[in-house]
Amino acid sequence: MSVTALKKKTSIRWKIGKYLFVFAAGLIGLLFLFQVVLLEPMYQRSKVQSVRNIGNDIARAIDSEKLDDVLFLTMMQNDACVMIRYDSAPVTIQNQSCTAFSDLGNEAINEMIGFARLSRNKSYMMINENSYDALDGSEPLKTIYYTRIVQGNAGNAVILVSSNISPLSATTRTLTVQLMYISGIILISVCFLTFMIYRGIASPLSRINEAAKSLPKGTYQIDPKSNRYREAEELNTTLSEAAADIQKADKAKRDLLSNVSHDLRTPLTMITGYGEMMRDLPGEKTDENLQVIIDESKRLNNLVNDLLDLSRMQENKITLNEAPFDITEMIETEMRKYDVYHYQDNFDIDVHLGDHVTVNGDRKRIEQVFNNFVINAINYSGNSRHIIIREIVSDKNVKIEVQDFGEGIPEDKLNDIWDRYYKVDKKHVRTTQGSGIGLAIAREILDLHHLQYGVQSKVGEGSKFWFIMPVLKS
Ligand code: ADP
Repeated sequence: MSVTALKKKTSIRWKIGKYLFVFAAGLIGLLFLFQVVLLEPMYQRSKVQSVRNIGNDIARAIDSEKLDDVLFLTMMQNDACVMIRYDSAPVTIQNQSCTAFSDLGNEAINEMIGFARLSRNKSYMMINENSYDALDGSEPLKTIYYTRIVQGNAGNAVILVSSNISPLSATTRTLTVQLMYISGIILISVCFLTFMIYRGIASPLSRINEAAKSLPKGTYQIDPKSNRYREAEELNTTLSEAAADIQKADKAKRDLLSNVSHDLRTPLTMITGYGEMMRDLPGEKTDENLQVIIDESKRLNNLVNDLLDLSRMQENKITLNEAPFDITEMIETEMRKYDVYHYQDNFDIDVHLGDHVTVNGDRKRIEQVFNNFVINAINYSGNSRHIIIREIVSDKNVKIEVQDFGEGIPEDKLNDIWDRYYKVDKKHVRTTQGSGIGLAIAREILDLHHLQYGVQSKVGEGSKFWFIMPVLKS
């Protein structure tokens, strides 16, 4: 990522501050909307609803003996005035202290009753503004009037309910002032919270970033102060693992370079030495000496080929030539090459083969893996010079095992031996055969084939390398 791209990104502090500020602004906005803007309409709505409810409650109780109780309760609880007029008898029931109806006047009352009679549900709701009641600059007093006409036993009854809507401007003013204080407090809290969250989240990140600058050198020193929360701790662990991997890769690179140069130099020295000897000493121009030059050239060729092969495999540049082949026959053929070890060096190589089975794979590559296991078994079999090759055939699979009874491999090194140029014995010993990257190549080939493979080993007792291939149904 370029420096300019880095500069354009907003700091986490501003991001946190921005989100918290938006949240706080939203909260204050909602408070303002409900406490100030919508307070009056909502209050008026609920008041209208309660007046309507009173009217309806009385309408339901009109001819029952519960009427008195309902009247008493509704008037007491809701601070409402009620008047009932029966058409048949000119009786008016009204709570004494109310002036709402007399304030309105008979004419207006009769008009309301007229509207109620005309309406479909025989009711009429009206809000009256008594502007003359208002003092200078203050809000006019609003009164709700609800008229409902019901059919009783003794003819029509007109129920009139009225209630005042208390002016809320004073309350709204108080709430506005309060909200301003609350907004101030919230704003200060947002700044404080931003700072605290920034300290908690970003400062460990900055520390980690600072420490990670030494990663290219393969070192990473965990700062205990950066371990404040789980994610930061995990990041620290990942980075220190990465540092260890970088160190390992760096070491492997150095080892590879020194081992490759060593392995290249030895045959080259031999070739030059023998060549010069044959040039200078006429009696040394023998077939044996020429053979040494040829053998060493072949070894050189093998090493260079193996190195090229491995790097092509690791870059996924090779494709497998997969086809069915008889793996039992492959082992038989390959093992003939090793007869020389039996006759010349007294090796005892037991080969236990099962029934002939066919597998699918790149025969040349599988041969390469098999030979690598066998060559290693020969190289590391020590004084025992005993090797067992087994082909174990089951229903679905065939397992190929190469076992030696040599020095064995320490348990903690079992994973590392598959790495390029890893050596259990650090001092580089030039083996009789093999380029020193045999197991790394074997791993690539087996992985490319998606096969199971592994090694069991015990120091002093020997090792058993194996891989499993699915058997093709014939
Ligand atoms: P090399 O040419 O060094 O054998 P390999 O990649 O084939 O390279 O093996 C890597 C390392 O694994 C060896 O250097 C050796 O330390 C260990 N190793 C491999 N096979 C055996 C074995 N059969 N017994 C003991 N150690 C082994």
